[in-house]
Amino acid sequence: MDNKSLVQRDLGVVWHPCTQMKDHESLPLIPIRRGQGVWLEDYDGHRYIDAISSWWVNLFGHANPRITRAVQQQAQELEHVLLAGFTHEPVVRLSERLVRLAPHGLTRCLYADSGSSAVEISLKMSFHYWQNMGHHDKTRFINLSNSYHGETLGALSVGDVALYKSTYKPLLFEPISVPSPDCYDREAGETCAQYSTRMFELMDQTLARYADETCAVIIEPLVQCAGHMRMYDPAYLSLLRGACDQYGVHLIADEIAVGFGRTGTMFACEQASITPDFLCLGKGLTGGYLPLSTVLTTDDIYQAFYDDYVTLKGFMHSHSYTGNPLGCAAALVTLDIFDQDKVIEDNKKLAAHMAYACAELSEHPHVAEVRQSGMILAIEMVKDKRSREPYPWQERRGLRVYQHGLNNGVLLRPLGNVVYFMPPYVINENEIDQMVRVAHEGINIATA
Ligand SMILES: *Cc1c(COP(=O)(O)O)cnc(C)c1O
Repeated sequence: MDNKSLVQRDLGVVWHPCTQMKDHESLPLIPIRRGQGVWLEDYDGHRYIDAISSWWVNLFGHANPRITRAVQQQAQELEHVLLAGFTHEPVVRLSERLVRLAPHGLTRCLYADSGSSAVEISLKMSFHYWQNMGHHDKTRFINLSNSYHGETLGALSVGDVALYKSTYKPLLFEPISVPSPDCYDREAGETCAQYSTRMFELMDQTLARYADETCAVIIEPLVQCAGHMRMYDPAYLSLLRGACDQYGVHLIADEIAVGFGRTGTMFACEQASITPDFLCLGKGLTGGYLPLSTVLTTDDIYQAFYDDYVTLKGFMHSHSYTGNPLGCAAALVTLDIFDQDKVIEDNKKLAAHMAYACAELSEHPHVAEVRQSGMILAIEMVKDKRSREPYPWQERRGLRVYQHGLNNGVLLRPLGNVVYFMPPYVINENEIDQMVRVAHEGINIATA
């Protein structure tokens, strides 16, 4: 088997996600034979550093021996059982661990199988809570501009990335949209904290006006990842928590991308010392092994559904693979690795090294900003550094960086004109240097 023969067969039968398939007339599809640590290897023996953790899911490297063993052992005992009317040890243990680990006050876990389905659950549960409490006018959601919450119709409705959303507009419900506190837009001389705090005015006004008809505010804490890795200050989260309490509106924190250490703390909400009413987790939950997601919520919300069956207040939502034992086993050992290896502590050194390796890029004539939140670092390419005029999207500058990366052993997958790194935590300093060097060259070529 070589790259060419497998690609040919693939292009005959597979429809790839988030892809204009015609691109593959010129852009090679890369068949991966194996992975180890941060490295992926194709059928022709080329190796690539997975600088984006395979769409932000992988935490501790590919084919991690500890996670592999845990999944193997679980598969020999019990691969799956329905979670309605039945339970199993992995889901009980995982729920206990998550409740202990998550911001204080989140005491219940409901499971699903993708980030999008976790978002759907949080939206439905918030709406249903208000119905159960007799607040029938609460039917809407507030979101931030440039947000992303997944691809299913409800999750897409509360997102705001035009590329994924605009075509489907007629199928979606309308959220009440508030401008993002994204610090890329701050004035010269203004700190990120000042800007995010100033932008909170608009959220406060919106809540004051629409609280009576609003179920929840949904946000991605600190980093709008799919929205070009735009970042904002924790001060916004503290203010938002306070206002949601004041106006009687839930707060949904979508930590599907930023959870599990990406922003430097286990959960991004910790940086503002807040507890959301719903915490959505996915992606890294299983270390990148299996599709599992969960929504954590509070006892107050749980109690609003707890009643005699005939009141029909129960949350009648399920997915076939809810609480899958293999996924739970992978998640449990992932949490063990966080504990045993002092990962959050060690990541500080890696994050500092990423900053150091990228320092020069701030001076690049076509880089408007290098920004970082923990283990996420993003580089914004622009046509004009002073005015920050972006390159037209049609020029696909990021794609040139992508291609340069692949030709030089690094998997980068820029979001439009934003090149970013979100590597597995097992990356070492040499690999960071290599990843950054190749990205830097790619940026030179793409902006020449
Ligand atoms: C990826 C992502 C989702 C959707 O998760 P899927 O597993 O792809 O459905 C939702 N919210 C955020 C913030 C994400 O990054």
